[in-house]
Amino acid sequence: MPLIVTGSIGIDTVEAPSGIAVDVLGGSAVYFAAAASFFGPVRLVAAVGEDAPARLEQLMAHFGVDTAGLERRAGSRTFRWSGKYFDDMNQRETVAVDLNVLAEAPAPVPDAYQNSRHIFLANTDPGSQMQLLEHFPDRAIAVADTMDIWIKEHRASLDALLARVDGLVLNDSEAEALTGQRNMVHAGKAIRGLGPQFAVIKRGEHGALLSHEDGVAVLPAFPTADVVDPTGAGDAFAGGMMGHLAAVKRYDFDTLRVAMAWGTVVASFNIESFSLECLQRLDRSDIDRRLNQYRGMLQLDMGT
Ligand code: AMP
Repeated sequence: MPLIVTGSIGIDTVEAPSGIAVDVLGGSAVYFAAAASFFGPVRLVAAVGEDAPARLEQLMAHFGVDTAGLERRAGSRTFRWSGKYFDDMNQRETVAVDLNVLAEAPAPVPDAYQNSRHIFLANTDPGSQMQLLEHFPDRAIAVADTMDIWIKEHRASLDALLARVDGLVLNDSEAEALTGQRNMVHAGKAIRGLGPQFAVIKRGEHGALLSHEDGVAVLPAFPTADVVDPTGAGDAFAGGMMGHLAAVKRYDFDTLRVAMAWGTVVASFNIESFSLECLQRLDRSDIDRRLNQYRGMLQLDMGT
């Protein structure tokens, strides 16, 4: 059953110690859709402006993503984001954000998408996330992501969304901004108090933490030697995670842990290049191979 995603489609400019990439394709929904496509069919609902490059459709076609829900809006401009990484690649500064089309009405949902059961609300305005969610009362699972700007400036609509989703995926500084809790075990629990049954807190090179009523789990990041650009790692992580959940159609604690492992591995490829260059070179066997390597790294032989 296809996985449906809404979120941003961005024209990004990224400065990192490894170099600079100017006006490259990005956006939460783009990274998510590309990553999830390795696990099954993906449907995209998002809007761009007249200035979006023609290669957007080609890129999504490369990943086999259904773009019937992609709207090129006349008279609008595409979301733009620019960010800078420092020597510690866990530190990112947003240099500029132009919401443009993200501040307008969301893209309409095609009728043909109505049977979608797995919903991912990638980073975008929580009002638009809610509008997509409302199209799918019979969903199996809905998971959202969010970001500092929405936590600070759209808190009421974010709270309304959190009351309706099954899971929330976000990074540690966002979890702290949302809950006021510095300790991620407390933050995860506080997020569950806002509505979701589980929270996945991403911690960059320090891995990810799952907070769930059945317990807390942690997974390390896959150790990558060639970190070029961490942009989109969180979205690629969510794409791998949701792709696995949609493929197996189970959502319990143990399945979520395995799904996070897939997300970790897909994200580790994403950070090896700017934009989606590395994901474009991959096939599923590359991901399977790295997952096996990762499993080996997690194994502890305690003897007898
Ligand atoms: P990540 O590194 O996983 O946080 O994702 C970065 C991607 O999210 C970039 O490609 C940006 O275009 C996009 N992005 C940055 N800020 C926002 C925002 N406020 N809302 C939606 N998407 C955003």
